[in-house]
Amino acid sequence: MISKRNGSIVERARRLLRDDGSVLTRELLRSPGGFGLGQVPDKLKPDATTTMICGFCSTGCGLDVHMKDGQAVSVTPSVDYPVNLGLACPKGWEALTPLKAADRALTPMTREHAGERLRAVSWEVALEAFTARFKAIQAKHGPESVAFLGTGQMPLEELAFLGCLAKFGMGMKHGDGNTRQCMATAVAAYKSCFGFDAPPYSYADFEESDVLVFIGANPCIAHPILWERVCRNPHSPVVVVIDPRRTETAQQATAHLPIAPKSDLELFYGVANVLIREGWVDRGFVEAHTEGFDEFAKHVAQFPPERASARSGLPVERIERFAELIHRGERVSFWWTMGVNQSHEGVKVAQAIIALSLMTGNIGRPGTGANSITGQCNAMGSRLFSNTTSLLGGRKWDDAEHRATVAKRLGVDASVIPTDGGMAYDQIMEAILRDEIKGLWVVATNPAHSWINQRDARDILSRLDYLVVQDMYVSSHTADLAHLVLPAAAWGEKEGTFINSERRIGVIKQVARAPGEALSDFRIFQLVAETWGCGEMFAEWSSPEAVFGILKELTKDTPCDITGVGGYTEVDSLRGVQWPLPEGEKVAPGSERRLFADGNFYHESGRARFICGPSTPVPEEVDERFPMVLLTGRGNSAQWHTQTRTGKSAVLQTLAPETIYVEISPRDADRLGIAPNDWVRVSSRRGTLEARAYVTHIVQPGQVFIPMHYVQTNRLTFPAFDPTSRQPAYKHCAVNVGRLMLHDRAR
Ligand code: SF4
Repeated sequence: MISKRNGSIVERARRLLRDDGSVLTRELLRSPGGFGLGQVPDKLKPDATTTMICGFCSTGCGLDVHMKDGQAVSVTPSVDYPVNLGLACPKGWEALTPLKAADRALTPMTREHAGERLRAVSWEVALEAFTARFKAIQAKHGPESVAFLGTGQMPLEELAFLGCLAKFGMGMKHGDGNTRQCMATAVAAYKSCFGFDAPPYSYADFEESDVLVFIGANPCIAHPILWERVCRNPHSPVVVVIDPRRTETAQQATAHLPIAPKSDLELFYGVANVLIREGWVDRGFVEAHTEGFDEFAKHVAQFPPERASARSGLPVERIERFAELIHRGERVSFWWTMGVNQSHEGVKVAQAIIALSLMTGNIGRPGTGANSITGQCNAMGSRLFSNTTSLLGGRKWDDAEHRATVAKRLGVDASVIPTDGGMAYDQIMEAILRDEIKGLWVVATNPAHSWINQRDARDILSRLDYLVVQDMYVSSHTADLAHLVLPAAAWGEKEGTFINSERRIGVIKQVARAPGEALSDFRIFQLVAETWGCGEMFAEWSSPEAVFGILKELTKDTPCDITGVGGYTEVDSLRGVQWPLPEGEKVAPGSERRLFADGNFYHESGRARFICGPSTPVPEEVDERFPMVLLTGRGNSAQWHTQTRTGKSAVLQTLAPETIYVEISPRDADRLGIAPNDWVRVSSRRGTLEARAYVTHIVQPGQVFIPMHYVQTNRLTFPAFDPTSRQPAYKHCAVNVGRLMLHDRAR
């Protein structure tokens, strides 16, 4: 039912449709805010240069956007933005290109059955169909039978809108985001050890460490601007890379520890064992600021370096030398990304990394920290404000007081707020398979490409009674399966805020018109709310900046308190603001701040916790039939995730291999009769792909590596999950590799 409230957007649009046959978007074009389709806001001068945050990765670089006749024509990296200091990676330079792609979704499109062609419909028809189908499913199967999947690519305000609309307005209990695929492990580890999801660092720490340890992280290509910050370090730092592959970063590092895949937990317990054995523990810090050290010490006593050596493949002396390096460093920082997070026991590994930093007192001081580098441009915002892993503002679902605070501020009955976060991504997929979830709303993410074990993922998505995909492109693999596609405006065509890896809030602006009838996700959520009949609940949510104000209030007295942050203009003039910034506190423009300088953590005791547990075998061991380990990860700095955007740029395409390739060691290539550039077949128990052989010492014998950006890669991956974070373990499965003859390829 469409709300009968006078002045609702849909009602006004209806009047327009009746009066002159014009489309809904004509009304939206004139409506306040100007985001989504329509004119670039008046506040931007037609030929001015404005600044905004890049919309790809979590580095959060500042870009100067140059306008002509009210439209963005080019971007250059901002020289005075504290994050990137005048630098950008190829994706940043090409930020505008994906907006102009030919396959942009221009109108809502619908189809009744899979395999049929999508046909264009008006927004009104699309919204009526969406709400009618979802309501019918809920009426028949219960409110929990519809769910949503969001993304860390959306601004804070849109994430919050989706999370509140779906869970409080539409009665969904289950919803998650693609941030489950990249950051859930770090979230769980930080919450358990620090008492809050709080990456403690600022990027200045890259320049202030004298020892930097990168674990399962390849910043040279995954976060190239952050690697530039390392290169600016004036202290001639020692850089250690712990990774099975000799990555681009490992090749630049002082030392590379090429551990066996998924042996990191036992390695870190072994290192902790040596630190304790040698008396290299900062007892003063441990006693004053932590709890659980005695249990931790007892646990790691079972992991002498000999055991860590047997598991990791590193000689005992190297493990001991690494421990000594940590001990001798004055400012040691530990940095991790997906090599840790995307693991069957990633939370324990992250907790072990945090333990190493705590036991050596390497936290809260310049150049230190246990630092998870985030993935997507607004992954941090998703963690705190999407109503998935946390209730708004990093609050707890199971805390009645937190629920009451949120309910009061939003003007909703506390009973509409669930008492837990609902199912994680993999559990939602399983529930679809069990026929319990029958409707799914996928916003700006592409699970048909990116979800682990792709054949099953596509089968699961195709079982849905109703799949709604809201995206800037109509051509994604997930849109191929959709019953309804809602055309969304892209980064650059709307406004809002992102939070980057170092907790810095930055503003994005509208600098281009969305094509066709595409609307900002924010505006789509407003329309869905109106059509669903819960528009009143969001009457105050009139613009992204208005929502930013609400979200700020909801952080009051939390660790991420930003009640002292002004509006978008102030955030911009301060060159971004890191949380926390409570009311009454001030920061200078471009300031960089870290957490825990006072040794106080967020648990009630004020102490950080040591947490440990048993190591567990990898979910899929190699065997005679599948004797090699497949590693997956980022290919190069010109590719982004499923390439729905970077694949649109001819420039970025020339910087990345066009054809899928597999890295294989010279020894394995020789054994299998594979020459460089040969076509090979890589198979797992779940599927097969064909790729060019890249014969290289980057991978160790017995291992192969394929970038995640190619759609074929997840045909092979094994659907295992960390039991705590529910993050998929993309980094390890068993495969075999064989050379393909020309006639094999043709078949
Ligand atoms: Fe954008 Fe990340 Fe590249 Fe910076 S490093 S320009 S934020 S993609």
